[in-house]
This record gives sequence, structure tokens and C-alpha cells, in this order.
Amino acid sequence: MAAIEMRNIVKEYGDGFKAVNDVSLDIADGEFMILVGPSGCGKSTLLRMIVGLEDITSGDMVIGGNRVNEKAPRDRNLSMVFQNYALYPHLTVFENIAFPLRLKKNITEEEVRRRVRDAAGMLELDEHLERKPANLSGGQRQRVAMGRAIVREVDAFLFDEPLSNLDAKLRGQMRTEISRMQRRLGTTTVYVTHDQTEAMTLGDRVAVLRRGLLQQVASPRELYEQP
Ligand code: ADP
Ligand code: ADP
Repeated sequence: MAAIEMRNIVKEYGDGFKAVNDVSLDIADGEFMILVGPSGCGKSTLLRMIVGLEDITSGDMVIGGNRVNEKAPRDRNLSMVFQNYALYPHLTVFENIAFPLRLKKNITEEEVRRRVRDAAGMLELDEHLERKPANLSGGQRQRVAMGRAIVREVDAFLFDEPLSNLDAKLRGQMRTEISRMQRRLGTTTVYVTHDQTEAMTLGDRVAVLRRGLLQQVASPRELYEQP
């Protein structure tokens, strides 16, 4: 069974414009799927429909075997990492990472600390747990956003151009880190980018969108060897 199944997904805006036009795509359990295509092709809209931030006009979104079309984002058990990090400026790194756990009932403080430390360790944030986001570098902020995504067990991670605000060197580093983290955790991942290097190096498969249509789904190798 696929972790995420999209069946004939359509997103139509007020004026009848179809930002996403009849997209069907299965993402396997543990798979790293890239959504790529030029600006305006519908990548973010599709990702936002998976996570529940955007209503689906028609079609079915099935996550973990359950149709989630009408489910609120917080009932979908997914973690999204945004381009602008969306950190809480008044909270420390520790509390930013712990935030999703604070919304859970039946979790002890000890368990919260253990999980935050595990996530922080994986992302080399151990020494910055008491700092505030304003005192961090761009790369560190991005790591905190990732820490918040991995601190609880979810059905999938969703990334919306997470590296586009970083310089080229840091982007390369973070690419390696995201890839390592995903393999280690084995969590199904959907990653939106318009960056060819990210598309060709990060994913198990790449879904190419153009004007709302799914044009092709292939492994990076198949895309590379294409005439
Ligand atoms: P991408 O992420 O690939 O850059 P988006 O998913 O953000 O593309 O947008 C897809 C298309 O839908 C674009 O043409 C965009 O202008 C349009 N669009 C996005 N949001 C809205 C909206 N709220 N109302 C009308 N059109 C929108
Ligand atoms: P990104 O390229 O990072 O996805 P955009 O600048 O395309 O961001 O969109 C930012 C916001 O504006 C989104 O919430 C999107 O839904 C909205 N938006 C984009 N295009 C349109 C549009 N044509 N009409 C109304 N809202 C839009």
C-alpha cells in the first residue's frame, strides 16, 4: 500500500483556472519523492493539498490508507518544513523543536527532553538549545525547522523549497544532511523544489509538473539518461 495516494487531484481557483489538473500519483512507504517544475506549475499547491492547507476541488487524497480530503492539517499526522522556517522568535531552540510535542497529551517531560535531544543531536544543534532564532545563522534556523519536523513520529515529511534562502555552499551541506536524515529515519518524504541539482540528487523518484499537469514520474537516473 502506498503511503500517499493521489487520485485525479484537481485544484481550481475562483476564476476556473486549474492550478493542479488531474494529478494521480502514488508515493511508496519510505520513498523520497521530488516535485519539480517551473515557477507556477502547481508544486506548492499540490504539497499544500497533501498537508491540508488548501482545499481539494476534486479527487481523492489518501494517506496511510485513509481518505483525508476533509481532515484538518492537525489530524493528518504529517510534518511540513517551510521555506521561511516559520520558527517562533520568542521561544528557544529547545522549545521550538519541542513545540509539536507540547500539543500532545500523555507525554512526560522526560520523554519530551529525550526526543528533543535526539533530534538536536542528529542535526548538530546540541550546543544551541538555549538560544533564540534571532541569534542563529540561516543554516541553523533551517536545522531547527527540521528538528521540529522530525521530533514526533509522522506518516510523512513535506518540504517546500527548504533550502532556497541559503547560499550555495550551505545548500550543498544541507542537501547531504537532509538525504542522510531521511535515509536514517526512513520516513516517506515529499520535497518541492525548482532546483535541478536537488531534484537529481535527493529523490528516489522525481515527479515533473508543468502547468498543473503531471508530465512524468521517473528516477533521477532515468531522467538523466533521457535523450
Ligand atoms: P509553484 O509552487 O509551482 O510555483 P503554485 O502552486 O504556487 O506554483 O501556483 C500554481 C498556480 O496557481 C500559479 O499560476 C499561481 O499563480 C496560481 N495560484 C496560486 N495560489 C492562487 C490563489 N490563491 N488564487 C489564484 N491563483 C493562485
Ligand atoms: P511560492 O512561489 O513561494 O509558492 P507565491 O509567491 O507563488 O509563493 O505565492 C505566495 C502566496 O500567494 C500563496 O499563498 C499563494 O496561494 C498566493 N498566490 C499566488 N498566486 C496567486 C494568484 N494568482 N492569486 C492569488 N493568490 C496567489
